[in-house]
Amino acid sequence: MKTPLLSALALSTAVLAAACAPAIESTSAPPVAAVQEEREPVTILISIDGFRPDYLDRGLTPTLTALASEGVAASMRPSFPSKTFPNHWAEVTGYVPDHNGIVANSFTDPSRAEDKFTMATTDPFYWNGREPIWVTAEKAGIRTASMFWPGSAVAYGGEVVPNSYGKIEGGTRPQDWTAFDQAVSPTQRVNTIIDWLRRPADIRPQFLTLYFDEVDTAGHDGGPNGSEVNAAIANVDADISSLLAGLRELGQPANLVITSDHGMAEIRNSRTVELDRIVPRDAYQLVEAGPYASLNAIPGREADLEAALLRPHDRMECWRKNEIPARFEYGTSTRIPQYLCLAQVGWQIYPERREGERVGGNHGYDNAAPEMAALFIANGPAFAQAKRLPVFDNVDINPLLRELLGLPQDEALDGKLSPVAGALMASE
Ligand SMILES: [Zn+2]
Repeated sequence: MKTPLLSALALSTAVLAAACAPAIESTSAPPVAAVQEEREPVTILISIDGFRPDYLDRGLTPTLTALASEGVAASMRPSFPSKTFPNHWAEVTGYVPDHNGIVANSFTDPSRAEDKFTMATTDPFYWNGREPIWVTAEKAGIRTASMFWPGSAVAYGGEVVPNSYGKIEGGTRPQDWTAFDQAVSPTQRVNTIIDWLRRPADIRPQFLTLYFDEVDTAGHDGGPNGSEVNAAIANVDADISSLLAGLRELGQPANLVITSDHGMAEIRNSRTVELDRIVPRDAYQLVEAGPYASLNAIPGREADLEAALLRPHDRMECWRKNEIPARFEYGTSTRIPQYLCLAQVGWQIYPERREGERVGGNHGYDNAAPEMAALFIANGPAFAQAKRLPVFDNVDINPLLRELLGLPQDEALDGKLSPVAGALMASE
């Protein structure tokens, strides 16, 4: 009995459509296109986690490659360490990780020795060091929205109420924000941006962030030359294409700033520096391990640890935190452990070598290494056309965003406008 019912529904819909059509035609209302409002450009900051600029040369990215060649493109230098959270925070605050509080993906603050910062931590205590661009914008009356960005779910400037199970008092978030959930698909993320921009002008965001993690995950799994990452690169290009289509449909001009936080280097288990062959296990506490290792001495074992670490090693160099070479701009924060060991690109530092021989990818190396380079594409009415910029630092993104949003520059930032000013139309 289903078929007749469906037919009846289809018929009644057809009748309704037919009945409505003449009524619409008979009104004097102008066609929809003619009443579409004249929209001011919005700014959309996009992060494609782990996207190396040379991925654009693989023939997999028609949309991103066109945006780059028609707009502004550069290879951007991440901050040290070339990890996800420190670099996303560097872009939006304009300060290097040593100065922005997020010194690593995982760390401990000495004033809260029992606690540990992880990538899931939203306690403003860890993030309050430097103000992100969306807070600067909100304070200036510019409405912001975040479809993910590390730190965007944090009530910046707020405080956890004691004994409240995590209730936050005060603080500023983007007016529209989303708690990070990797299961939210790239399509849902793009649709959320478009839905926000479909709103009436008085509640529509003017600055938005959008974050994709797929390319980084695939790069870790199979390395920067694996088939996994190539599939992810093609997928994210299609997502950007959907975003552009949605903007076009709305008649919404946009200044797109497309970045990544770091690149990706190929790793193998056989390329492991085994710390336990260098230092007695009972002399150190390991805070982080991988492309770099950060360590503290077990009290009383400082001399043993230093004697072992600070001599020359194959594939690795170690420093006391206050003797890290200046170009890394790293080592003054109290959140950085006592010692840093940095591996040669492609090598990793662990207590011992892992079983088997697996090829994968990782980042966290010397931020000047070509494998760690990050993506920068700018395209939109505010930007120059068909221009390539010399390499610049990712802390310069904050001053660029200030310029796009009409916010005053802050001379105290580590980031400067001058290296990226050439991206802007007015400077031509
Ligand atoms: Zn990342």
